[in-house]
This record gives sequence, structure tokens and C-alpha cells, in this order.
Amino acid sequence: MKYKHIFTPLDLGFTILKNRILMGSMHTGLEEEKNGVDKIAAYYAERAKGGVGLIVTGGISPNIQGWTAPFSARMSTEKHAIYHQKITEAVHKEGGKICMQILHAGRYGYHPFNVAPSKIKSPITPFKPFKLTKRGIKRTINDFVNSAELSKMAGYDGVEIMGSEGYLINQFIVKKTNKRNDDFGGEYENRIRLAIEIIRQIRESVGTNFIIIYRLSMLDLVESGSNWQEVVQLGKEIENAGATIINTGIGWHESRIPTIATSVPRAAFTWVTKKMKEELSIPLITSNRINMPETAEKILSEGDADIISMARPFLSDPEWVNKAKEEKDDEINTCIACNQACLDHVFQQKVASCLVNPRACHETELNYHPTKNKKKIAVVGAGPAGLSAATIAAQRGHFVTLFDANNEIGGQFNIAKQIPGKEEFYETLRYFKRQIEINQVNLKLNTKVSIENLKDLDFEEIIIATGIEPRSLKIDGINHSKVLSYIDILKHKKPVGKRVAVIGAGGIGFDVSEYLTHQGQVTSTNIDAWLKEWGIDKSLEARAGIENVKPEFEASPREVFMFKRSKGKFGSKLGKTTGWIHRANLKKKNVQFISEVSYSKIDDIGLHYIQNNETKILEVDNVVICAGQVPLKELYQPLLDLNKNVHVIGGADFASELDAKRAINQGARLAAEI
Ligand code: FAD
Ligand code: NAP
Ligand code: SF4
Repeated sequence: MKYKHIFTPLDLGFTILKNRILMGSMHTGLEEEKNGVDKIAAYYAERAKGGVGLIVTGGISPNIQGWTAPFSARMSTEKHAIYHQKITEAVHKEGGKICMQILHAGRYGYHPFNVAPSKIKSPITPFKPFKLTKRGIKRTINDFVNSAELSKMAGYDGVEIMGSEGYLINQFIVKKTNKRNDDFGGEYENRIRLAIEIIRQIRESVGTNFIIIYRLSMLDLVESGSNWQEVVQLGKEIENAGATIINTGIGWHESRIPTIATSVPRAAFTWVTKKMKEELSIPLITSNRINMPETAEKILSEGDADIISMARPFLSDPEWVNKAKEEKDDEINTCIACNQACLDHVFQQKVASCLVNPRACHETELNYHPTKNKKKIAVVGAGPAGLSAATIAAQRGHFVTLFDANNEIGGQFNIAKQIPGKEEFYETLRYFKRQIEINQVNLKLNTKVSIENLKDLDFEEIIIATGIEPRSLKIDGINHSKVLSYIDILKHKKPVGKRVAVIGAGGIGFDVSEYLTHQGQVTSTNIDAWLKEWGIDKSLEARAGIENVKPEFEASPREVFMFKRSKGKFGSKLGKTTGWIHRANLKKKNVQFISEVSYSKIDDIGLHYIQNNETKILEVDNVVICAGQVPLKELYQPLLDLNKNVHVIGGADFASELDAKRAINQGARLAAEI
């Protein structure tokens, strides 16, 4: 067996985990949906059926004060426990195991009743917390215990206590958020009392045969966070207090260091878990940016952890574990760590899904049933939209021919994958390539389709997925030899000078600037270089892993000036959870951001523009146009005129603010119904 460590069962004494893969906790938004329980049950059951060893639910609050947001899910009454029984029954029916995460948000609670060790507002929420009284702390501990007892009653196999990411328990542990001078503040022994009491009292009340996972913040990544000796001390105390397993938590939500974005290398933080393994004897879970079996197996075989936690990879592919077992890695729909449909949705109070798998969290509503009416379908364009439509339609039993003018599938993803930090996009292309083979899509590359080719062919349905073309601008001198498009640079690799103006500050403007400011070292595939770039001390001598550590990164080989016409912050339309990373990267490279301009001319000198009614000239070697895109759908109307059954999806349908999430979703939904 290729992945023998992954598939070695783990005996916890009173129960056995069938493999070493854990689905990590993720809030999906279904928890709060009216009657969302059927949807959550279907969502978890599908993952259990997919073979995962243990599931941990999204965070559920033990009381109202601990809500992450108003009316978020809570486990504090028998009624709640009965509601959850549907979930545990559905998972157990599929042979799975499931723990409920108990999460008290503390000052991260996005509501006016939030509480914390001290009255100090967090930088990421607008509500100043109330200070918990000593009686309030005792009540909170009781609420954790009550919640654990109720989850046992609901049929859960255990609980995970969220002690990391900067939530309440973490806020007690760290000095900057805990200014108390009673038994729960002051010395470290006092600050960790809440965590230890919660575990000790839960164990006392639930007995021995119930899993208790404690998510330990091993690397706070915030100023004045715990040092390594303190983290080890807490780990040992938690083990003694009765935890079954310790999970690794990395970084607080307010930390300004990325921990799960796509530019974070795979398994970038497993060295932390490895160091903790020298100290503890109960099983340890490692996490963060592990998305493929080879990485998981390597970690386990080297003894760096006992269990691998993956969260988002189970959104992208519920069958991940079964595919790994059957050694069908090339069939895994890999999580590309984009956050676009999962975390970004949750931050916008929308139900989570997945960019590469629109069925995620929509299992009761979006299904790809075999068709009873097999049709001959043409899909024109093998970008994300066309690939999604073609492979799902073929999977349902249709006879699909997929055309692309290019010599490879992928459309703009072939351009996107060139960006440093977007290497995971290769995985999506690999996945679709394999789906084309499995579902016997008739792929015709190097075939530019015209009305002439199509009109006489007997396709019953035609799907136009021809994407976009870059918007052409009407600026004096736009045809000057200095002017390049993002395609010239990223696809045709045209040479670029030392001083560059980038027109347009959308996702592509940012990506192009990222590309132009790189020397050649790609840190997203090199853990040590990446840690240095973000100022993380691998020796763990620095408090919280970062205190007084100076980031080290290569200087940009170019001076880049980014322009936009509109007002406001650069990158404000980028992903909620990743935009700040892109901005931080470009700031490090001294990219200059210039807004509220109009462009007047490009000539031998450079870019002429107007700002505040003043004409300015920026001397540059090149001007790169990243000014958005327009639909390419010249085939659509003539086909309609010929009375063909024609559909249009992706960029060809609507280019403004188009991203791969919409393209793939639209393709999938059309293919599910056609
Ligand atoms: P396209 O990807 O444009 O594909 C259209 C396909 O149709 C092409 O392969 C083309 O060759 C083919 N075609 C066109 N005309 C014909 C014809 N007549 N006959 C045959 N074939 C034809 N999106 C995200 O969500 N997240 C990101 O992080 C992200 N990063 C990006 C970075 C860059 C640098 C770029 C350029 C794009 C990025 N995108 C990102 C956008 C994303 O790639 C697009 O939204 C997506 O590719 C659109 O998919 P589509 O299938 O509609 O069109
Ligand atoms: P975009 O996000 O729409 O940005 C276009 C930029 O061009 C804007 O900054 C706009 O700024 C400027 N612009 C528009 N019309 C212009 C004109 N006539 N003259 C001069 N400037 C003009 O489009 P994009 O950057 O091309 O990206 C395409 C899609 O790919 C986006 O929708 C995005 O979601 C997706 N994408 C996503 C990511 C990601 O990381 N998630 C990365 C890359 C791409 P002003 O109007 O202010 O000048
Ligand atoms: Fe992964 Fe992106 Fe899907 Fe989220 S949306 S699960 S990050 S691929």
C-alpha cells in the first residue's frame, strides 16, 4: 500500500480511528440556517462516506456570550442536543466518527454581549468586551462542561475545545489580552487556569470513553504571545487534565501573518507539531496547508505527527480519503487554498462552498444524477467554465465534445498558474485533465471553433464558454512599443524593463505586480525561505515565534507603480481573507500605489496622467495594461439565430468581476440540468 501510515488505525484505548486523517473544524454557515440540520447532516455524511477517520464540526458556542456572531449556533440545552442527533446519526450510518467543537469567541464575538478576561477590544471586531467576573468565569467553565455533556447526549464521539486562533481561552493565556490580577490573571500559571479547568472538569463529567481534543495554540504569531516553554508547559498540563488528543493551532485571527492562504507552502507549520512531539505522549494532530496524500504520508512516516488535520480539502473533495486509499491521487479535486468560496463567504455571512467543488455545502440541492436522455453536446472553450460543464455533463452520461483553440486545457488558469504563490492552480488543471479521461470527453485541442464549423454538426446542445478578451483602452499612445498586456508578460514572457507602470488594480493588476517584483525565488514552495520572508523564527526562541524577528526577503528587481482611477484602498475588492496578504507583499517590495488618476498619454518618456488637476509624467520603461476584461461571445447570437439550443457560461456570459468560482459554478449548474 502506497500510503501505509495514513491507513494505519489509531487506537485511543476506548475507540479506534480507522485512519490518520481528520476533517478539521470549519464553520460553513449552515449551522445557523433555518432547518439547516438536514443540509449539515448530508454534508458531513458525505465526508464520512468518503472515508475520513474523524470529523470535527464547526465551532459551536457553549453560551450566548461566546457567540461568534449574533444567533450563532450554540449547544446549551437539551433541545440543541436533540437537533444535533440528526448529524451524528447520519455520520455514524456511514461508518464515521464525529466530535463537536466547542468554541467561545471571547472578544472576537461580533456582537455587543461579548466577554473577555479584560475590557480590551480586539483589532478585528468593533465591540468592546465586558470583563468576565470571577463568577462569570466559573459559569463559563460550567457552560463548557454542560456543552460537552450535551454533545455526548447528541451522540458525538467527543469534543474539541478550541484553545487557539485568539479565541477566549487564548485571550486568557496571553498577557496583552489578560490584565487581571486574580486567580485567572497575572502569572502564567493563573492565565492557563481556565484552559486546564475546562479540560479537567469536562473529563470528570463525561468519563473516560469520550474523545477530548484540545486545540493548543502552539505558535501565537502575535506580539507578547506565549513563548515555547510556556506552550510546552500548557500542553503537559492539558495532557494531565485528561485530553485524549492535542491539535495544533497556528496564529491568532488578528495576526498579520498568513497561515492557510495559497502562498503559504504546503505543511509550512508541521515543524512546530514535530517539536511538541518530543514533549507529550498523547497523539498529536498537525494542520495547515496539507492537501495531498503524499504530503500527509511524509509527515506521518517521519513521525512528525500522529494525525493529519485537513479542513478545506474536504470541501473540495469529500472522497479524498477513499481516493488516497485506492491510490488515485490524480483524481483528487485538490483544495487550492484560495479561500474564495469558503472563508471569504463565511466572513460575508454567506454559506460556504468551494471554488473547485460548487456542491460543497449544497449537497441536498446540487446533484449530478445520471441522465435519462443522453445528448450530443458541444462545449466551446476549455477554461474553468467549459471544463466544469463538459466533465459533469459527461459524468452524467452525455456525449460531450470539448473544443479549445489552444494546445492545452485551462484557459486563463494557464496564465494564473504563472504567478508566484499560485502553484496550486496546476492541481486543478491536472484534476480536469483526468476527469476528461475518466468521463470520456472527446477533447479537440488546437481547434478554433467558428459558426461555419458548428452550424452543420448535429449537436443537440451547444455551450459557449469562450471566456474573455482583455479590455482595450483608448489612451493616446496605447500602441506604443512600451505598452504590454498581462498576457504578453505572463503567457508570451515578453521582456519587461526596470521601471514599470501597471494600469489597473484588480486581481490581475495585483498578480502581475507580484510577478514583476519577484527575483526568481519562489517562497510558496520553500518553507524556510517563506518563514524568513514573514519573520517567523523556526528555532522558536522568539516569543510567539515572531517577537523582534526582522523579515528577510529579496528586493524587487524592478520599481513598480500601480495605478487606478477610482478612490479608496488598493485591493479592496480582493478576497476578504487574502487581500491584505497581497497588499502586504507588494508593500514589502516598495510598490507605489497611485489612485484617482486619469490617463492622458503614453510615449517615449513614459506614462502621462492627471491627478488633482495636475498633469504628471512618470518615466517608465513599460506600461502594463490590466484594466479588466470583456466577454468573447461572438458565436452566441449567430447560433441562436440558427435556432440552436445554445447556452453561454463563464466570462463569455458576463466578464465583469468574473472569477473562476463563478465560472466553475455556472458550468456545474448548467451541466447538472442539461
Ligand atoms: P477562460 O479561462 O478565458 O477560458 C476560455 C477558453 O475558451 C480559452 O481556453 C480559449 O482558448 C477558448 N476559446 C475562446 N474562443 C474559442 C473558440 N472560438 N474556439 C475554441 N476555443 C475558444 N480567478 C479566480 O477565481 N481566482 C484567482 O486567483 C484568479 N487569478 C487569476 C490570475 C490571472 C493572472 C488571470 C489572468 C486570471 C485569474 N483568475 C482568477 C480569473 C479566472 O482565471 C477566470 O475567471 C476564469 O478562467 C474564467 O473562465 P472561463 O472558462 O469563463 O474563461
Ligand atoms: P477587475 O478586478 O475588474 O479590475 C480591473 C481594473 O482595471 C480595476 O482596477 C479598474 O480600476 C481598471 N479599469 C477598468 N476599466 C478601465 C479603463 N477603461 N481604463 C483604465 N482602467 C480601467 O479585473 P481583473 O484585474 O482583470 O481581474 C479579472 C477577474 O479575475 C476579477 O474579477 C477577479 O475576481 C479575478 N481574479 C481574481 C484574483 C484573486 O486573487 N482572487 C486574481 C486575479 C484575478 P479603476 O476603475 O479604478 O481604474
Ligand atoms: Fe479550498 Fe478554495 Fe475550495 Fe476553499 S474555496 S476549499 S480554499 S479550493
